[in-house]
Amino acid sequence: MSPGPLSEAEDRLVYMNFMKSHCCYDAIPTSSKLVVFDTTLEVKKAFFALVANGVRAAPLWDSKLQVFVGMLTITDFINILQRYYTSPLVQIYELEEHKIETWRAYDAIRHFPILCSLFEAVYSLLKHKIHRLPVIDPLSGNVLHILTHKRILKFLYIFGSLLPKPRFLQKRIQEVAIGTFKEIATVLISATVYDALSVFVERRVSALPVVDQKGKVVALYSRFDVINLAAQKSYNNLNMSMQEALASRSCSMEGVLKCYPYETLQTIIDRIAKAEVHRLVLVDSKDVVQGIVSLSDLLQALILNPAGIHAFLSCLPGHILNTCSVINTCA
Ligand code: ADP
Ligand code: ADP
Ligand code: AMP
Repeated sequence: MSPGPLSEAEDRLVYMNFMKSHCCYDAIPTSSKLVVFDTTLEVKKAFFALVANGVRAAPLWDSKLQVFVGMLTITDFINILQRYYTSPLVQIYELEEHKIETWRAYDAIRHFPILCSLFEAVYSLLKHKIHRLPVIDPLSGNVLHILTHKRILKFLYIFGSLLPKPRFLQKRIQEVAIGTFKEIATVLISATVYDALSVFVERRVSALPVVDQKGKVVALYSRFDVINLAAQKSYNNLNMSMQEALASRSCSMEGVLKCYPYETLQTIIDRIAKAEVHRLVLVDSKDVVQGIVSLSDLLQALILNPAGIHAFLSCLPGHILNTCSVINTCA
């Protein structure tokens, strides 16, 4: 006898249960590149090394303590540039002189043993508002892979397709209200790159819709795009306009990936998963920015909400922590 359709309450739990029943190991590729930096490396060389190796972040190894102490990401590059830049005529000496260990203090790296559940990985990424979660071999302590929202959604998208389709996927995005719809951080196309970096630092968002005077979105500038300033050694001229910076991106997407309030959640998940981007810009019929639907919003809604957890506000209940007792994600 085949089972009947799921009730609405069961529907809500499908993805949460799936993520609880799979571990980080299931979502990592069979082979991938991992670059590790020693904390005595100069920061400038480290950012060039990210570019040369085509990676977005690297775990930091303290050879005196013999432990991983943190992560170097493009956010660090943005923070250095924004803090120390003065004018195109003055070199950023701090970028030339600092080593990773002197630029900032690293007190802990958030990482996960490979057998921890994907549910906990999602919780940790969202609670700590980070975009990279190293997964480690608990026996050797070696980092095996760096897990991201994108990788997790891809896993859910491919293997979750075998699960019964929850009915709420057919609801419109305006109905389910998944995303951010107020106070969207944007940057004007006529603004400078320094202005954009300042918005990144102040608002801590992962990307900025680039808009014209009417608020219409004309491009997207993400934290990832800032690494082009290292690739092209143009970080000494942050007075350049956004227009110039966008035109000089070495590889970028055609146009802006958008969505509309009347589109269904299913359509939006399909689009974001196929394009392999971290967010869509929600617009009205005139392309005026109305919101952002990010992978963080989708993972929160599909995986954490059904467990009654709002990652930004709460700690994991104890019974969930027991599934992975090696770590304390609420620390
Ligand atoms: P990005 O979006 O630039 O790749 P993140 O949002 O992941 O970066 O990182 C923001 C800040 O948090 C960075 O300064 C980085 O050092 C720190 N960070 C990121 N991931 C981790 C982690 N797993 N453990 C500790 N710190 C981290
Ligand atoms: P990450 O893997 O670091 O999270 P992102 O998805 O933020 O990377 O960005 C990767 C590239 O895709 C960047 O060049 C960025 O400008 C582009 N991109 C990301 N989201 C969009 C979007 N909604 N529309 C157009 N381009 C996008
Ligand atoms: P992210 O850093 O993209 O994973 O998103 C974290 C949260 O910030 C999500 O709730 C997003 O909707 C929101 N967010 C992302 N980009 C922006 C932006 N430019 N303005 C306002 N909120 C944003």
